[in-house]
Parts: sequence; structure tokens; C-alpha cells
Amino acid sequence: MPGVIPAKAGIRRIFRGVDSSPVGHLLKKTSLALLDLVLPEYCVVCKREGNYLCADCESDLPPLRRPYCFLCASPRVPQLCDSCRRSAPAFDSVRAPYEFRGSARSILHDLKYRRIRIAVPYVARLLAAYLERNPYPIDAFCPVPLHPRRERSRGFNQSELIARDLSNLTGIPVETDTLRRTRNTPPQVSMESPGDRRLNITDAFECRADVQGKRYMLIDDVVTTGSTMSDCAQALKDAGALNVWGIAFARQAQRSADDDSEGGVSRIWM
Ligand SMILES: [Zn+2]
Ligand SMILES: [Zn+2]
Repeated sequence: MPGVIPAKAGIRRIFRGVDSSPVGHLLKKTSLALLDLVLPEYCVVCKREGNYLCADCESDLPPLRRPYCFLCASPRVPQLCDSCRRSAPAFDSVRAPYEFRGSARSILHDLKYRRIRIAVPYVARLLAAYLERNPYPIDAFCPVPLHPRRERSRGFNQSELIARDLSNLTGIPVETDTLRRTRNTPPQVSMESPGDRRLNITDAFECRADVQGKRYMLIDDVVTTGSTMSDCAQALKDAGALNVWGIAFARQAQRSADDDSEGGVSRIWM
């Protein structure tokens, strides 16, 4: 059905920015969900009609290959990156199956445009497959929280949706109320340097449950510097958690040519 896909994209564009009021927001959510049901699926990367990610584009997903920092998984860094060397993060380690570029980047971009019904289960399935190959002794998943105000304006927290699906797939419980973001930090793009980013987000999380002796895995869609995950881990460990690991769908490299040409993680989430 030629023409359908541009039409679908066009309808999505119409709804962009309509969700400032509760009614507009509900209208948008309902309409986009219906749209996903009635219009044919197309590949998120090459727009070919068929699956959410066609076989060609799936084989193009860029795996995060060694070497990477063994603490924060920063790509193409042997052993420890400079940032982890300067100040050790609070998590035990962070991992991601993919690098934040190419089709992995398209999938996360798609989450923003709210094909949530399809994108979230897809991301969760790939994370579940990764955890099956790389098992951890965890008691619960814990999504990286958004500030409640930001979650209300966006309508969802993609990390929480991914964590819920991941929990269904693996049977590992998910705790969505354990961590809370206490300060509505400005988006990380507006910060100048990695040092500023750390400053910006420090003490932004509080632990609101009994986590004594428990082992957690933090869930996020993408890891940019690792500082958000580290602050979440700090809050959990301060409250007595035994281990805190983190996993995200994709890990961003510390500035690459790719970021310069297309805009990094940050621009996506604005
Ligand atoms: Zn494709
Ligand atoms: Zn590192």
C-alpha cells in the first residue's frame, strides 16, 4: 500500500505538541494506539513494509564489542575509561547489547515518537536475550525514574515500560516505586561537559523501599555517560542494597563523528 507509511508519519506529526492539556494528551495517546492497530507495520529503519525491524536492518544492529570500559561499558576503551578512573561509579557494572548508532539509534528514536506498543516489546525481547546469554544473580529490576512532572508531560517512562516487559519475559520482579527522582533536572544536553552533567544530576534520586541486602538491575533505554545510573545505584546502595548493576539497550560512545553529524542521544529526548 504505497502512501500509507508517509500518511502514518504525517498523522504522527500532527499530534506532536498536542498533548499539553490532559484531554489533548488522552486524545493523542488513544489515536496513536489505534493508528498502530489499523495501519500496516513498517521497518523502523528503512521503512519497508513488513516487520518492525526487517531482517536486513536487524542484522545491522551494532553490537557493543570489546574493548569497552569494564565498569561503564564506554565503547572502544580498554579496561577503565578516564571518567571511571577519576571517580568510580556507584554501580557494580553497566552493560548494553548495542552501541547507540545505526539501527539501534533508530529504534530508540522511534520510542520517542511513541510507537510504544511495538518498540517497547522489541527492545525488551532483545534485552531478555542478552540477559539469558549473560545471567546476573538479581532479585529485581528497577527502571531509572523520570521526574513525575516530566513523566506526566511525556505520558510515559520508556524505561519503566521496558522493565515491565522484561519482567514478564524473565520472571524477575520489577520495582517501579523503589527509586524516585526528587529533582526535575534540566535535560542533560543543556549541560556543557561530562563534569557538569555529574553535578547536574547528583542527589536527584531517593530510595523509598527496604532494599537491604537486595541485588538490583537498573533498566534504561540508553546510557549516555553512566552518571544517571551511578546516581541511582548510589541511592540504592546508601539504603543498603548489596549489588546494583545496570543494563540499557544501547551505550553511547564518548563523542563520535556520528554524533556530530546527527546530534547525540540528547537531541532525541528533547
Ligand atoms: Zn529495514
Ligand atoms: Zn567507564
